[in-house]
Amino acid sequence: MAIPKVQELRKAVATEPNLFTGAIPRKDWQDTFTEFKEGNFAYPAKPEMVAYHKFPNSRVWSPDEDDWKLPDGWEDIILTGLKERLGKFRSLKLFMDICVRCGACADKCHFFLGTGDPKNMPVLRAELLRSVYRNEYSIGRKILGKMQGNRPMTVKVLKEWFMYSYQCTECRRCSVFCPTVSIPLKSP
Ligand code: SF4
Ligand code: SF4
Repeated sequence: MAIPKVQELRKAVATEPNLFTGAIPRKDWQDTFTEFKEGNFAYPAKPEMVAYHKFPNSRVWSPDEDDWKLPDGWEDIILTGLKERLGKFRSLKLFMDICVRCGACADKCHFFLGTGDPKNMPVLRAELLRSVYRNEYSIGRKILGKMQGNRPMTVKVLKEWFMYSYQCTECRRCSVFCPTVSIPLKSP
């Protein structure tokens, strides 16, 4: 993989819409495309290692392929797992609801500073999951729907979870600045 030069990196940050250029994004964040390219995503474990640890659906796949070879009913598997954890961990339910969107964490993440990608802002990294949570479980979901930023579980959403969860190093820098400490959602 070619290592980008400093000038190229500076240019990428300076030309993309972000807080530093003052440029306004032309699309809603939900309409932006998540591009998997060499060097910007985590690689999956080898099938034999997945099988060794007795995890399901061991297979050869790569995140930059269109087909992730997901098992049948994968949406239900995820939503059932989320529901179980919401019932089990009160803290998780709390963290889903207490972000006040103040934006104090936004420019504290080195991944956002380095890429200029809005989905790397801690608040938006968490929103990738919260948008699905609200669509399934919030009280006003049927009335507010998209106005609330709710969205169903889709392959596109799953790919965003993968990309942006693994781009968080769990350094917790954002948590130092969060007034509500809704920060555990910043990490996968
Ligand atoms: S914990 Fe994750 S989201 Fe927060 S600043 Fe560190 S890398 Fe960014
Ligand atoms: S600092 Fe905390 S409350 Fe403010 S937007 Fe970020 S996660 Fe939400």
